[in-house]
Amino acid sequence: MTDFPRSLPAFERRFPDEATCAEWLLERRWGSGFACPGCGHDGYWRLGRKVLTLQCKACRRETSVTAGTVMHRSHLPLKVWFTAAWLVATHKNGMSARQLGLQLGLGSYKSAWLLLRKLRAAMVDPDRSPLGGLVEVDETSLPFRAGDAPSGPRPGRSHEGKLLLAGAVEIRGKGPGRARLAVIKDYSAAALGAFVAGNVADGGTVVSDGWSGYRNLKEVKHDPKVIGETPAHLVPPWIHRIFANAKRWALGVYHGLRAEHLQAYLDEFVFRFNRRRSPQAAFARLLGLATAIGPHPYAAIVAAGLKG
Ligand SMILES: [Zn+2]
Repeated sequence: MTDFPRSLPAFERRFPDEATCAEWLLERRWGSGFACPGCGHDGYWRLGRKVLTLQCKACRRETSVTAGTVMHRSHLPLKVWFTAAWLVATHKNGMSARQLGLQLGLGSYKSAWLLLRKLRAAMVDPDRSPLGGLVEVDETSLPFRAGDAPSGPRPGRSHEGKLLLAGAVEIRGKGPGRARLAVIKDYSAAALGAFVAGNVADGGTVVSDGWSGYRNLKEVKHDPKVIGETPAHLVPPWIHRIFANAKRWALGVYHGLRAEHLQAYLDEFVFRFNRRRSPQAAFARLLGLATAIGPHPYAAIVAAGLKG
């Protein structure tokens, strides 16, 4: 998407109405060729439905351009979804449901909340590949609020009022590549080992600035990853900057964290961080369009289990 709009007026010119949104979806999904999810045939008719729909010339199956995306069967116009995705993808810090509802002129808070929740759910790509190469790993804790209590830990019970999380970031040249953040239940070798196993590719090199718990990662079964000290030229470690930015962001945007939503906050932070230089990729991802759809549309559609 080389024509990704960088400003709101540019966005309005690019997507003035429902038809342009539908055409964009058609091009994005099947620009390199349609394949019927039912039979694989590539011939189709365009049907003039509420949302642009393709009908297979062979088996007559109908496939909406929104099938399998977060917009499917929504009562909201495509234009509202596109505007919401554009706002969320291009806003540096993200926004609350109330802010989004005001920006979009939505009548009810509930509509805005549901819309934002669906966009957030699309932030984690289930097919994302694990981090590779040189990967910094570390852990930290965050204070959280329980119910309406003021922020800060409550005395007397360990980990009460503190949330533990693990983080990893690829090092690409002199800077950070992609990152991952995850809630962990403790700092045990088992918990850290599971985090590394789930987020770092086999053959990757895990580096840490030193907590001895990582030494025990060697004991994790079937874990071929190499554990090493952070090379001197990487100081200060990028993962510490990411932790600091995530904490500042959570406090600024959400005014403190709640335990039950922590992973969702972390996912949103990571989404923004990993796409900080590619708002067009963030926009497509938020609409539920995996970038994988394109070269192999039929396989991608079947893999996603779309129903048409
Ligand atoms: Zn067909």
